[in-house]
Amino acid sequence: VFQLSVPLNFLGSVYRELRQSLLDMETLFNLQKVNVNVKEKPDAKILNLSHGGEIRFENVTFGYHPDRPILKNASFTIPAGAKFAVVGPSGCGKSTILRLLFRFYDVQEGRILIDGQDVRDVTLESLRKSIGVVPQDTPLFNDTIEHNIRYGKIDASNEEVQRAAERAHVHELIQRLPEGYKTAVGERGMMISGGEKQRLAVSRLILKDPPLLFFDEATSALDTYTEQALLQNIKSIIKEKARTSVFIAHRLRTIYDSDQILVLKDGHVVEKGTHAELLEQKGVYADLWHAQELSLAQDADLERNLEVG
Ligand code: ATP
Repeated sequence: VFQLSVPLNFLGSVYRELRQSLLDMETLFNLQKVNVNVKEKPDAKILNLSHGGEIRFENVTFGYHPDRPILKNASFTIPAGAKFAVVGPSGCGKSTILRLLFRFYDVQEGRILIDGQDVRDVTLESLRKSIGVVPQDTPLFNDTIEHNIRYGKIDASNEEVQRAAERAHVHELIQRLPEGYKTAVGERGMMISGGEKQRLAVSRLILKDPPLLFFDEATSALDTYTEQALLQNIKSIIKEKARTSVFIAHRLRTIYDSDQILVLKDGHVVEKGTHAELLEQKGVYADLWHAQELSLAQDADLERNLEVG
């Protein structure tokens, strides 16, 4: 028995590591098309986040093809502990910022610093472990709901899993399923909706609790009511833990209360400030805000007319 227990314990830790790397792989696949040319320096250090996770882009120029830059001399700072938002037209490079931060690609010019350390000088593992993402679309594993959440922290207790699901507004829904947390999902189990997936992804992130948090259109599949409720919960967790968080968003209603909003257009940072400051500037952000408010008002009108008719 003694002889066996040693290798089994060892296997247990390998298995745990494997699972953790599956989680990282998952993040990886979501951000897609990884460049294998990114190499860790032989003397790479462990990322040190003792300053609370300040992210700084300094004169960053980057294109997936060098002759077609997506970011052009972009500079901005995301203060440690800030609730930050990045907005801009589709294809302007919002998700690219996240891929660069993960160092799936290296910048062509400039540098990216986290708490003063160039992402090229730290180990890839420590870098990627520090960043948690709720991506646009989260694939689920062919496993139970419980396991899908627990991938965030494989040694979490059932209570922790449930608490995370509660905070992600998905606990009640899970309880109503035939086998609750033991219900199988994914290809070989039950298919669940985009909005449910997003909430499972948020549960997973809450459980993982990384120092830097990214939400890439993370609530886009939810109805307005659920989205607002979930965002409120996410924001209160972030505030409570003073985490640096970045929201990538199309719908400005979801991010207008950020500490700072960065507006990207054609690869350039065109505006930055608070919602009030940006409205005052009457620029790209203000135009986008008014256009979205108008279309919301029109939708509400339409709904009212349908009800009357
Ligand atoms: P959206 O709001 O639609 O999600 P985005 O602002 O997040 O868009 P990115 O995903 O950062 O935009 O993409 C910026 C540009 O880079 C787009 O034109 C996109 O087609 C291009 N792009 C993204 N990934 C790659 C890649 N792996 N190889 C080549 N081009 C890419």
